[in-house]
Amino acid sequence: MKYESRKLKKNDLVMVIAGKEKGKSGRILRILTKKDRAIVEKINMIKRHQRPSGQQRQGGIIEREGPLHLSNLMLVCDSCSRRVRIGKKVLEDMKKARYCKKCGEMIDK
Ligand SMILES: [Zn+2]
Repeated sequence: MKYESRKLKKNDLVMVIAGKEKGKSGRILRILTKKDRAIVEKINMIKRHQRPSGQQRQGGIIEREGPLHLSNLMLVCDSCSRRVRIGKKVLEDMKKARYCKKCGEMIDK
């Protein structure tokens, strides 16, 4: 658990805090756990050449999201609308829940 951002999950709203996409925000579409990376909606778009295939006669260039390193992402809190650090606490039913370290609101509702 090296990175704060290991606590990020799919569908979280995050902001990019480093790199060429710095300052942009979007929802996490997928987390690539083994690579410590995440795919974030509409961020880090990369162009790929697609070969012509059976149904699509013309090849072309398609754009899709490229992975971002988790250490470059921070959660944007729904309640205080800032990028925040995530805390974890154990609830009465022994489940772990995430909360915003700035405003104290629970992130998983
Ligand atoms: Zn907050």
